[in-house]
Amino acid sequence: MAERGASGSGSSGDSLDKSITLPPDEIFRNLENAKRFAIDIGGSLTKLAYYSTVQHKVARVRSFDYSGKDAEQDHEPPYEISVQEEVTARLHFVKFENTYIEACLDFIKDHLVNTETKVIQATGGGAYKFKDLIEEKLRLRVDKEDVMTCLIKGCNFVLKNIPHEAFVYQKDSDPEFKFQTNHPNIFPYLLVNIGSGVSIVKVETEDRFEWIGGSSIGGGTFWGLGALLTKTKKFDELLHLASKGQHANVDMLVQDVYGGAHQTLGLSGNLIASSFGKSATADREFSKEDMAKSLLHMISNDIGQLACLYAKLHCLDRVYFGGFFIRGHPVTMRTITYSINFFSKGEVQALFLRHEGYLGAIGAFLKGAEQDNPNQYSWGENYAGSSGLMSSSPELCPTQRARSGTFDLLEMDRLERPLVNLPLLLDPSSYVPDTVDLTDDALARKYWLTCFEEALDGVVKRAVASQPGSVDAAERAEKFRQKYWSKLQTLRHQPFAYGTLTVRSLLDTREHCLNEFNFPDPYSKVKQKENGVALKCFPRVIRCLDALGWEERQLALVKGLLAGNVFDWGAKAVSDVLESDPQFGFEEAKMKLQGRDGPPHKCALIFADNSGIDVILGVFPFVRELLSRGTEVILACNSGPALNDVTYCESLIVAERIAAMDPVVHSALREERLLLMQTGSSSPCLDLSRLDKGLAVLVRERGADLVVIEGMGRAVHTNYYAALRCESLKLAVIKNSWLAERLGGRLFSVIFKYEVPAE
Ligand code: ADP
Repeated sequence: MAERGASGSGSSGDSLDKSITLPPDEIFRNLENAKRFAIDIGGSLTKLAYYSTVQHKVARVRSFDYSGKDAEQDHEPPYEISVQEEVTARLHFVKFENTYIEACLDFIKDHLVNTETKVIQATGGGAYKFKDLIEEKLRLRVDKEDVMTCLIKGCNFVLKNIPHEAFVYQKDSDPEFKFQTNHPNIFPYLLVNIGSGVSIVKVETEDRFEWIGGSSIGGGTFWGLGALLTKTKKFDELLHLASKGQHANVDMLVQDVYGGAHQTLGLSGNLIASSFGKSATADREFSKEDMAKSLLHMISNDIGQLACLYAKLHCLDRVYFGGFFIRGHPVTMRTITYSINFFSKGEVQALFLRHEGYLGAIGAFLKGAEQDNPNQYSWGENYAGSSGLMSSSPELCPTQRARSGTFDLLEMDRLERPLVNLPLLLDPSSYVPDTVDLTDDALARKYWLTCFEEALDGVVKRAVASQPGSVDAAERAEKFRQKYWSKLQTLRHQPFAYGTLTVRSLLDTREHCLNEFNFPDPYSKVKQKENGVALKCFPRVIRCLDALGWEERQLALVKGLLAGNVFDWGAKAVSDVLESDPQFGFEEAKMKLQGRDGPPHKCALIFADNSGIDVILGVFPFVRELLSRGTEVILACNSGPALNDVTYCESLIVAERIAAMDPVVHSALREERLLLMQTGSSSPCLDLSRLDKGLAVLVRERGADLVVIEGMGRAVHTNYYAALRCESLKLAVIKNSWLAERLGGRLFSVIFKYEVPAE
């Protein structure tokens, strides 16, 4: 089988290929470099986790060497860009039916070339049952891990690390999915894992948990009984049938017994009195759809009631549901939620998980990775490689359904730094970075999805243009287009596929897809050019600013920050609005600012936005003014590229060049009164709950008492409502007419939000 390519041939590959519409190497991605494996083999499904390295190109910037040259020489461009290979770590999760285990193991064996690992962490009953098969096929020693430990480890991990992992499902509300923000304190909770059977675990701390009950009536029962009743062996087919059925044709309802509601017990007439109760007496055939629906109700109700009773028995008010049975299926979630609400009278909350089925595999993987000092890292879901929630939805187009019906993918990128909350958040547990929830707001969703679709041509062109020397750039860019386009179409139909849909997640998905096809920084050359131009203007701008009186200068500085350009102010429209439009609180804020007495701030934390004019002629003069007033400045820029945002590495060079022209910046850098830091993010937006730990530590050490957040992505799409414990300034120019209208302003209106926390 070694010679089989993407199209697949050979015995074991055949059985694998029959079931899927994608070539196996698109499912088991990056297998060549897989380093560590974990497998969770349950009664029905196998979940494989592997950690692998991904090699991709990154644009690196490097200062020119000035030694021996005329320092005054006009350098354009201001620095060199070189494209280098970088290796990053990625975690892959793949799920498939146990039937395919041999074929999948064969495929894996044939594609494992570089692995140094000798063991595979295995959990689930199959760790025992398939031990010999795995050892023989993969030639890896099976290291068995305790099922419950893995399950809980995995559950704690997703609850803490994956944004919008847990959600409640409310059938008739809009949106139906309400995602939870990651809460710093997740304990105690009840985990009900619905796999083939059901396990119920009470979890009190990271490593204190107890198996308190279970049931044999679970996912396997639905699958098995469903197959007997409908002659349909495919789980997704069963779900599909169920979604079309009427359970009341099969079930005996309260009204069938009492002729209406049961008044004394307070039971409505529609309540199921007896699952399948009608089938015994009614003299007719029952449709597959109705039977499948009735079965799904029966099992989900039963599990819901069990969960509720155990939660009440142990005084817990939150139940998370794991296991692959639920699969984001509305009928199942609705029934379980209904049942829990009904029996607990609303006291117990049912919460579902986006990665419900992977808990054991994630836990087993983490067990194996314990010696790697996991606290040095953080993880981020890679939207390009993950298949997303609700992938089995019957509304999906057949190819998408066929793919996900058998295989389901999750990919997570390892970030080489721990991410933590900004210590200045007023209430980290209620902080929500995103301003508009597009799952909630259908109009905004339509608008933004169309907007991103329409922008796609431009992004593709830019990507190709950014790599003029590359022969396959056009081909890769086309693949990028297809991938992102299909993500957008999925999101149109399932806005909640990746958690709450936001402008940020749309932007991040685009960045992930660009990276996927080796377009790490399509704006690198544009940024380089703009930085060069802006650096040349810097001395003149500073001279003009210094010539102004204090008040005029403050105004000019703020306007410069807003417009990203001090004197000609780029677009005329911007300056016109700046002059005349006080509606976004600019005048009010100015008065507040003027009225602010007391000493200068101790330390300002500034989140910068764009490269070029914005950072060099907008932010740096402002930084310089703060420094002159005795305020220390932490300038935080993105760790990795996103659009034309200035990156940390670029900011270092820009600062160095400015320091060479300006003694204020020069001495501040030398004396560490101006500190350049990275945010830990590669997004055009800003999540203040996931910031580089080094930055957070510095913010605390220096006692930052002013936060400045600049730009649409960071101050409008995100953080517009972020409440901080110190003074803050959020500023942006609205460069999108729809959004301007939405906010009640005009194109190029100005957001200038100066907030002082309540005493
Ligand atoms: P186990 O570890 O026991 O296999 P899982 O958490 O993997 O448990 O869930 C298995 C159950 O998931 C099955 O019994 C079935 O009800 C459901 N299921 C979801 N998707 C599929 C699928 N594509 N094929 C088979 N069963 C599926």
